[in-house]
Order: sequence, then structure tokens, then C-alpha cells
Amino acid sequence: MAKVLMEKLNKYFGEVKAVKDFDLEIPDKEFMVLVGPSGCGKTTTLRMVAGLEDITAGNIYIDDKIVNHLPPKDRDIAMVFQNYALYPHMTVYQNMAFGLTLRKFPKEEINQRVKEAAEVLNIGELLARKPKALSGGQRQRVAVGRAIVRKPKVFLFDEPLSNLDAKLRVQMRVELKKLHERLQTTIIYVTHDQVEAMTMGDRIVVMKDGLKQQVGAPLELYFHPANKFVAGFIGSPAINFVEGDFLSEPGGLFFQTKGFKLKIREDKAAKLKSYPEKRVIFGIRPADLPEAPCSVPGETIDVVVEVMEPLRNEVFLNVQAGDQALIARADPNTKAKPHAQLCLEPNPENMHFFDIRDERALL
Ligand code: ATP
Repeated sequence: MAKVLMEKLNKYFGEVKAVKDFDLEIPDKEFMVLVGPSGCGKTTTLRMVAGLEDITAGNIYIDDKIVNHLPPKDRDIAMVFQNYALYPHMTVYQNMAFGLTLRKFPKEEINQRVKEAAEVLNIGELLARKPKALSGGQRQRVAVGRAIVRKPKVFLFDEPLSNLDAKLRVQMRVELKKLHERLQTTIIYVTHDQVEAMTMGDRIVVMKDGLKQQVGAPLELYFHPANKFVAGFIGSPAINFVEGDFLSEPGGLFFQTKGFKLKIREDKAAKLKSYPEKRVIFGIRPADLPEAPCSVPGETIDVVVEVMEPLRNEVFLNVQAGDQALIARADPNTKAKPHAQLCLEPNPENMHFFDIRDERALL
């Protein structure tokens, strides 16, 4: 049981400002994911919570108590590292028991906790083996097991799945989610993989250049990104961005670019009125660009299909609208063919617009 609060957290390594004015409140039992590109400050933030990195400025609270100067061992936190950090000369049992032995837990208690964790993680058969005799996935489980036996207030995970192959990663994603439900413990989980973040997190924080960009539930970030960076980082294939102009005509507000012209729905147009610029960035996700009968200008985009990428349940169409390349998602039974023309109808509900200068979302 623990909530974690980070308040105006800063970390400088000399000239490098790794984390800047980072605020985040993580309620008890939440699965919070920190995601962002390499070097954005995720690991540094996690290491400050763990007590492995000094804080340059700001505060970290665990359950309302400031822990800035508390050594890692007194924070009641367990961390699982990317490389698992198992002791090679110890057996799985000894690796899992190690933290408890150091803390002088009675032998019976240690034995019971290790057995319990081994059962949860399905590694009961492996307790006598050394790490080198384990597969990557098994090592990963042992590393998680070593964290579980401590029954910490908070689990910290630093890219724990990145050394696993794609299939195992998907499997472990589900297992870690189940584990969270079972243990009901606060988790802070770092990854650079937006799919991992979207599928695992109760909420996600997107970071860039040491700064928090947005925090919210996965679908909130997907449907209501705060800025162009978040819109582009979340979602696969990535959202289409097109630069163009707003055009106010008797028929309403339009977005116009070389390749096409679109009418903006009245309710959205009303909100965009106060935008002082003409130039703007339009964003539309491939899933919001379905094929449609070609209709009156302003409703659909005329495109030519260039490449089709068929997957099991969907087909991605790489198309050209004039000189503008777009990606659209189509049904597997699409009639689209390479080099053929067709029309796409952007879902008016999910059209995004971003400020041309600071790239914040305008809707
Ligand atoms: P990755 O996904 O690649 O691990 P990250 O988002 O976890 O990246 P951090 O490891 O937190 O990023 O690093 C943030 C910034 O701080 C980077 O510019 C990095 O080079 C810098 N940095 C991290 N640790 C140190 C250090 N010990 N000394 C100097 N600079 C550091």
C-alpha cells in the first residue's frame, strides 16, 4: 500500500538536464508507465524514486513521507532491472532469498515466501539451478520473484521485457498485468515501447527531453493527445501529420493543403476560431481514414494507392493525396489495388489540429 508523489523533480548531470520540473502523483495500487524515446529521462526518474540517484531539486514522497535522503534499503521498494542483475554463483532459490537473508528474516519465513513466489511465477522446478542454466524468460521471472518476496510497497520496473523475444514479451506483458492484479501493489514501469505502455498501464506518462508531456489513461492519450509529440508517439502505425491552412468560407471553416481540402465540423470549427494563425498542422490516424464513396468536395480525400500492407485483420494503405503521403487503415476485404484511385473519409470526430509554432493541440 503506497502512493508516490514527485514534486518539481530535477536531475542534472553537469550540463545535462536529464529531468526537469517533473510532477507526478501515483495513487496506491496504480500501474503507472513512464514512456518516451531514448534519453528522455525515464530511467533517471525511476532511479531517483529508488534512491539510486541523488535528486538535484524537488521532492519525492512515499505515503506522504519525504524520502529524498532515505537510502534505497529503507524505502520499501523493489526494483527489477533490464539485465535482471542476478548473482551468477547463486541458485535461483538463493537469488530470490538474498534480500530477505540480508534483512535477517527467519529461515522458515524466507522459505515460505520463496516457495510462494516461485509458485506464482511458475518457476518451482528451477529453484536449484544457477542463472546460466535458465532461458531469458526464466531469468526474468527470477528477477521478478526476487522483488516479490520482499513484499515491497512499490515495484519499480526498468524495461524488464526488452531482452526477451517478441513472443515471450507479449506473454510476459500479460503475466505482469495479472501479477499486478494479484498483488495489488503500486508499480512504476519504464519502457520506450508505446505498445507496452498502452497495453499495461492504468495510466501513462509520456516524457521528452526530461519534460513531462502528458499523463493520462492510454485511450485518453490516444484520442486526446496534448501535443504533436504525444500524438506521434502513441499509436501504430503513426498518425499522419499534414501542414496546411485554415480557410474561412461562407460554407464554414476548411483545412486546405496542396493535396486536399476538408470541411471542419461546426463544433470543432467554433473551438478553433480563437486560433490566431492561418497555418496549422492537421493530424489524422490511419484508423480514422476509412475508405468511402467519393462525395462532395470537402468530405473526402482523393488518393492514389501506392503500396498495400496486408495484415490478418486489416490492411494498411500507403497512399498519395497530391504530393502528400498518407497511411490509411482498410478492411481485409478492401477492393483497393495498387495504383488505383479511391476516396478516404476522415472521421470528423477524430481530426486533430496542432499549433504551428508550439505544437500544442488546439482542440
Ligand atoms: P533509455 O531509454 O535510452 O534508457 P532514458 O529515457 O531512460 O533513456 P536516462 O537514462 O534517464 O534516459 O537519461 C536521460 C539523460 O541523462 C540522457 O541524456 C543521458 O545521457 C543522461 N544521463 C543519464 N545518466 C547519466 C550519468 N550518469 N552521467 C551523465 N549523463 C547521464
